[in-house]
Amino acid sequence: MSTQTAQSPPGSSQRTRSCATGLACHRCDKHYPLQDTVFACPDCGKGLDVVYDYELAARHFRDVPGSERPQNIWHFEELLPIVDASAQARVGLHSGYTPLIRADRLGAELGLGNLFLKDDSTSRPSLSYKDRVVSMSVARLLERGRKEIGCVSTGNVGTAVASMAAKAGVAAYVFYPNRLEDTKARACMALGAKVCQVEGNYDEANRRCKEVAQATGMDFANITLRPFYAEGAKTAAFEIVEQLDWQAPDHIVTAAAGGTLSSRLHKGLGELQLLGLSETDSTRIHIAQPSGCNPIATAIIAEEAEVRPVTPETAAHSLAIGAPGDGYLVIDAVLKRGGTGGFASDPEIFAGIDLLAATEGLLTEPAGGTTIAVLEKLAAAGRFSPDETVVAIITGNGLKTLDDHPQKDWPDKVDCELDAMLAALSDLRAGATLIDSARAQLHA
Ligand SMILES: [Zn+2]
Repeated sequence: MSTQTAQSPPGSSQRTRSCATGLACHRCDKHYPLQDTVFACPDCGKGLDVVYDYELAARHFRDVPGSERPQNIWHFEELLPIVDASAQARVGLHSGYTPLIRADRLGAELGLGNLFLKDDSTSRPSLSYKDRVVSMSVARLLERGRKEIGCVSTGNVGTAVASMAAKAGVAAYVFYPNRLEDTKARACMALGAKVCQVEGNYDEANRRCKEVAQATGMDFANITLRPFYAEGAKTAAFEIVEQLDWQAPDHIVTAAAGGTLSSRLHKGLGELQLLGLSETDSTRIHIAQPSGCNPIATAIIAEEAEVRPVTPETAAHSLAIGAPGDGYLVIDAVLKRGGTGGFASDPEIFAGIDLLAATEGLLTEPAGGTTIAVLEKLAAAGRFSPDETVVAIITGNGLKTLDDHPQKDWPDKVDCELDAMLAALSDLRAGATLIDSARAQLHA
């Protein structure tokens, strides 16, 4: 915790209730001013973290009851890094606060009596959890008075940046590595962003984008603005605990790519405990990765402190980050909390998508399928007691990735005539599979 005092940014008359006081290196704990433009520690090269005055934050929380707070990404603004109220007012007013859904039918399938889904596939404006992190980047960009934003993306960051930049009136430049998902790239362009497709994988494009940022001075949502970007991920933890009436869950299961979400869930849970809002120490965090790109899960299982980079080979493109920047933070978070890492093959990932769809009527992308597949494996391995509260985070919407899903038989066209349609329906009924709700009833 820093002893600096939270101060207004230069030239700003209105200040948010943010209790951010500065930036600190994750490794060597060197401190930098909050308004600094440094995004990695000049001494050791590791990322920077936003630090807060938690005593002040606790006082603010007592002063402003939940009912008087906006139901959006700024609900917990004390623990977010944006200090300029006018910048904050232009971003994320309809972001965050996604539903926490009781998943009785999926829970019955997995033998879990208290399973919930944090449904970020309904996130505004771009239908993925990335709206949380990008809202902090764009607000920070506005705070700095900048008019252009870049990003490097496997898909969802790009659409979030394109959406939020358009709403904020700034120009967006999205760099996609080779394996871009068609729908997401077209969505970016439809939203007015300029898209550059880069020969190379995500990790290669990410390294090059750092150089582009240095050469041009352009801010990148998930590179130069990264300390701010990462803070947005904590809001998922805050909301989950508040939506469970301040009873922290026993387990959270989430997919991991670069590691921002899972490491900041850990930070967010810790902050709720520091502020006396909830007992969160016993919440375990488990991460899910595809078998074809599982450097963090592998390191967790081996209890190693750093990840060994891999070359991704997976249909879960949004998780195809072989050299995850925050991997070491995830390992630390998961091991400290007594969680674990798991992985799933591409066929298991698509089976996970189908299981979620068939039981909960929720269509997710391969990242969500990875979470469900690993949740299923952890449940089968006895990692959860049947009455424990388990929250699985569904990080993205399946409508964006339908082109990547295994092809199902295309329906035959029949005559628009009663007998032909009855015959077709009879065939369809014979092939229909509906997961039996009998076990769900037993649990109810
Ligand atoms: Zn350092």
